[in-house]
Amino acid sequence: MKYFFINIHTHKLCAEDALCISNVFADDLHDNNNKDSGFFSAGVHPWYIKDDKTLEKRLTKLEEAVSHPNCLAIGEAGLDKLTETDWGLQVKAFNEQIHISEKSSKPIIIHCVKAWDEILKLRMQEKTTFPWIIHGFNSSEQMARQLIDTGCSLSFGKMILNHESKAAKVLLRLKPEDFFLETDDDDIAIGEIYKKAAELRDISLDELKKQLIGNFKRVFKISLTDNTL
Ligand SMILES: [Zn+2]
Repeated sequence: MKYFFINIHTHKLCAEDALCISNVFADDLHDNNNKDSGFFSAGVHPWYIKDDKTLEKRLTKLEEAVSHPNCLAIGEAGLDKLTETDWGLQVKAFNEQIHISEKSSKPIIIHCVKAWDEILKLRMQEKTTFPWIIHGFNSSEQMARQLIDTGCSLSFGKMILNHESKAAKVLLRLKPEDFFLETDDDDIAIGEIYKKAAELRDISLDELKKQLIGNFKRVFKISLTDNTL
């Protein structure tokens, strides 16, 4: 039996041998976009918040989009200390999206750059029970543990190809239920990321695929009937 690769976060076209959550920015949410062709996440990214007014508009669009059955998650959304976007606006946008996640019962795919403490604090303050998936994780094992302890999952991308990276070192020590894999906006096949992850964790590719399909079903509460899943 051939199992699908799960690509939890991508900005590119989904490969035929994969099941993807394609990222849609709130600004690109139109009635006629290709939302019906596959799973997607929709969110307001901290890089693209201009001012209060555009934020409000995007949040309204987002609230409409999340009711679509193919919308599996909010995001990417989060906090970024290296972007020029006003910090207060970023926090506001993120908080609003936490509330949309709770209202819609859908997880959030998190973008976090140098704002780990703030993300952790919000996670604890909000007492939210919906999963947060920290995408493109490349931080310490200690941070990984703290996030997982509060109910977050981690997702790893091309950083793991460098086995000296923090991402690679953390990945090989996690329990199978705590992580996902992704290509983000990189021109790399999801199969390559899986191959490296299987090698790092010393398991077969099929075993890894089965584990991540299990995580996908559990975290996004979907029952897939296709026998390749
Ligand atoms: Zn991304």
